Amino acid sequence: MTKRTPLIAGNWKMNLDHLQGIALIQKVCWTLNDADHDYKDVEVAVFPPFTHLRSAQTLIDAEKFEVKLGAQDISEHEAGAFTGEISGAMLKKLDVDYVLIGHSERRQYHNEGNETVHSKVAAAFSSGIVPVICVGETLEELESRGQSAVPVEQTIAALSGHESIGEFVIAYEPVWAIGTGKVATPQEAEDVSKAIREALRDNFGEQAANSRILYGGSVKANNVAGFLQSGEVDGVLVGGASLVADEFSGIARYKKHIVL
Ligand code: PEP
Repeated sequence: MTKRTPLIAGNWKMNLDHLQGIALIQKVCWTLNDADHDYKDVEVAVFPPFTHLRSAQTLIDAEKFEVKLGAQDISEHEAGAFTGEISGAMLKKLDVDYVLIGHSERRQYHNEGNETVHSKVAAAFSSGIVPVICVGETLEELESRGQSAVPVEQTIAALSGHESIGEFVIAYEPVWAIGTGKVATPQEAEDVSKAIREALRDNFGEQAANSRILYGGSVKANNVAGFLQSGEVDGVLVGGASLVADEFSGIARYKKHIVL
């Protein structure tokens, strides 16, 4: 098991309205509180759509919930004539702790390449928000280049050339495993995480190599433990299953079903 604090992150994508979102956060937190979940032992974060963030912040604050708040995107710009965009400063004002950057759906449907990802990582660092940098290979890339080449390349591209590197998280998400029900094996997740960690060490030093690396792609309560048995995988990024309170809280409580 990891020696770093595991992070269980729920990416809601474009689902639920803000009232349904609040109900989901309440249900997850009540379930975890009833189970005496220790958030310092296993950190939990939700990533609702932008429109829900203010309500989520108010609820978390009022109820003193320990769940962390994440956004699904950040503008690479600070402010100005960028219709429809949301800046790091705006997110920070809503107590957003984390932001997803480079999710495969943004790379695929919004043409976000390594350059955009790099600029958004810079925006997160300068706003004091921890970027969760998503990397992963398509099925085609898996077949032509193997499993680690693209995630390693995307990691280096996202982090190279910044004045200074703040805290970050890498989420290894094979594109062929997102929302498809096809899951990488725990061994594959471990091998790619190891390759990413080595690249972090070689390019950015020991502190960067000690960053958390998550696995994502069709994670459920009944398969999460396999991934987190490995000392290389420091948590999971969950899509579909994060919309179901029992599933997501079950994932956060993965230690209950890990065989030591
Ligand atoms: C994701 O959206 O980051 C994801 C991993 O989705 P799913 O768990 O549904 O595969």
